[in-house]
Amino acid sequence: MGSITLFGMHILIVEDEEKLARALKKGLEVKGFAVDWLSDSEKARSRILLYRDEYDLIILDLMLPGIDGATITESVRAENVTTPIIILTARNETEHKVDLLNKGADDYVVKPFSFEELLARINSVLRRPTTTQPVVLKVGDIEMDLATRTVRRGEGEVPLTLKEFALLECFMREPGVVLPREKLFDHVWDFNTLSWSNVLDVHMKNLRKKLHHDHEGEDSTVFETVRGVGYRLAGEVRE
Ligand code: CA
Repeated sequence: MGSITLFGMHILIVEDEEKLARALKKGLEVKGFAVDWLSDSEKARSRILLYRDEYDLIILDLMLPGIDGATITESVRAENVTTPIIILTARNETEHKVDLLNKGADDYVVKPFSFEELLARINSVLRRPTTTQPVVLKVGDIEMDLATRTVRRGEGEVPLTLKEFALLECFMREPGVVLPREKLFDHVWDFNTLSWSNVLDVHMKNLRKKLHHDHEGEDSTVFETVRGVGYRLAGEVRE
């Protein structure tokens, strides 16, 4: 069974080993995730509490200066944060694995681990609540295959960049709904991208151009701009 890589997902990494953190961030970004990295445990706790609905997954190192990963997990769970958490532990800490799960972690990975191993755990954790969702999303005559990461409109395949794919996925998952600029922005880009920049508009323009290429007047599935709010994908959902 091939692994399903999920796009439009926002991950927070909390890790004090800079080299490891940078490698993970880079690797996950290549896979299409938007990734934030924090090394400070207190900042991480506040960020998780403040942006509880923003992150789709948290990767948390166990041994951090200040508050440790297990305590962070326990305290954010006590505040009803339900975001999936994967803990990174060192080999000699594995006897605490049951304890970690009891404190609310969804899974753990023992250091040193391969990137593929972590990715498999991430996909496994993220797929849990999405098992009932179709792998192919269909709105109007647009078809998005999440497994093969391809988009088709009518007969033709629409080549999209990672960011364009992630952006379109947001709309395909909530057709007919006006998605606020902030929500789209936060799902596709990380906190380091300046939110006042016109990066969203540029991507929307490109996405529109690609999707509407050779499709003038054929189908009612179009992006609508809702001034001052965001964008909406109008079109009929198909089974
Ligand atoms: Ca550490």
